Amino acid sequence: MSAKQMEQLEEVAPGLFWVHALREGRIPYAHSLLVEGQRDIVVDTGPGEDILRKLKEERDIGCVLNSHYHRDHNNGNWMFKDVPVRIHGLDAPMLDSLHVYFRQMGVSGRKDAAEIKKFTLEFIPHIQGPKAGTFEGGDIFQFGGPKVDVVHLPGHSPGHCGFFEPESRSLFSADICPDSFGPWYGHACASIGDFERSIDRIISLDPKIMLTAHTPPLRENIIADLRRYRSRIEDRDRAILELLARPRTLAELLEAHPVYGSYGGALKLPFRFWEEMMIRKHLERLLNKRAVKRAGRCFVSSDR
Ligand SMILES: [Zn+2]
Repeated sequence: MSAKQMEQLEEVAPGLFWVHALREGRIPYAHSLLVEGQRDIVVDTGPGEDILRKLKEERDIGCVLNSHYHRDHNNGNWMFKDVPVRIHGLDAPMLDSLHVYFRQMGVSGRKDAAEIKKFTLEFIPHIQGPKAGTFEGGDIFQFGGPKVDVVHLPGHSPGHCGFFEPESRSLFSADICPDSFGPWYGHACASIGDFERSIDRIISLDPKIMLTAHTPPLRENIIADLRRYRSRIEDRDRAILELLARPRTLAELLEAHPVYGSYGGALKLPFRFWEEMMIRKHLERLLNKRAVKRAGRCFVSSDR
């Protein structure tokens, strides 16, 4: 380890470093992972431009991997034009094309599309990075240091991946982060069922250290925290079912804010959009389970 190691790096296991992002990793920033080797691997490029610049000065970066297509995880890719950048094949099209990005978000065709696009591009200014190559679940990356296995953990996005180092049982789980905000599946291409299965997959990996994009490193109560995090999805089902004790339209459900409660301020617009997308996904699964039925333009609990 270098004597003048950057203060943003914390070695959580031999050769494996947590890269501590600006603003404690709150969006638009996201923590990264650095895997040491003859050349280092950087997973995600959202910790902040100055931090990436220092990393580039002090380390020999040989490869950049992205956990998924959301911009808070790859908005620094443009700084790595001289090395291979890779992402899961299912998320690569969203990285390469803004048109595909907005379509997969579910923005295209909406009445408020222009407003959401404007906000999105102002919140994280878009600088097109190099064209990304792809990887898939089960691939292994190793440059003479610890090896990391790609674990496909879809749901948050179709190609969302974690990176598992088996010796120390350390997992970088990106946006599967047990916190008060998630689980988040607020884009058209996200999936509740996949998200649940991905949490179960992590539980079966039994990680001893879990690094996420937006929380400090987790070393204790990981499984219990993941179970509590997963149970929030069913809590949301229940909250929606309770509201549907009487018939309500989608707009009426949205006004009741069953996912996020009240919100306001600078993030009101995206929160409203995400919550609508998430309510739609819950309704779809409750309709499939026949727990909810349609009544004209309304939805209502089947138990009523
Ligand atoms: Zn994300």
